[in-house]
Amino acid sequence: MSHGAVKIHPAVDNGVKQGSDGFQGGTLRCHCTDRPVEVRINAQSAHNHVCGCTKCWKPDGATFSMVAVVPRGAVEVVANGDKLKIVDEKMSIQRYACTGCGTHMYGRIENPEHPFYGLDFIHTELSSEEGWSAPGFAAFVSSIIESGVSPDRMGDIRARLTELGLPPYDALSPALMDAIAAHVAKKSGALAA
Ligand SMILES: [Zn+2]
Ligand SMILES: [Zn+2]
Repeated sequence: MSHGAVKIHPAVDNGVKQGSDGFQGGTLRCHCTDRPVEVRINAQSAHNHVCGCTKCWKPDGATFSMVAVVPRGAVEVVANGDKLKIVDEKMSIQRYACTGCGTHMYGRIENPEHPFYGLDFIHTELSSEEGWSAPGFAAFVSSIIESGVSPDRMGDIRARLTELGLPPYDALSPALMDAIAAHVAKKSGALAA
């Protein structure tokens, strides 16, 4: 049985598009028609995934956001950066959003102790270039209930994610959860040699 009627995110609802080898990045553009914010990304994205948390920006009508990381040194605001404002300075990920249209352009971690310090979070759908790394899993799936999705729909939604090749997790993927735990263990001295 196909679960194609279940909407996840416009970038994956018709099937996940694979990335291109050798892709070097592109330019993210916000949704403003007047003076759009442009952010140049000089790298291929990594760890692309759909996310069900309530903090990641998602386009109108989407159930999940789609979010990836790139080295922070590869992120450069190239146009209309005066429109950017941090959504919530108290969050460990500082999300820079356009004050005109609300689109989040990049998220940055300023705490050098954070496991993901040095990586910025981006939404590759804001670029017209093709070849960005494909999303590979679904994170924080249960959290979509906090955005108003009925708990009764979770079975269908998880089935659709699996069908799309996006294994559903209620935290980050096992690989990323292991990376966070290893970072903590390294700091405490418990990391196995
Ligand atoms: Zn905008
Ligand atoms: Zn999220």
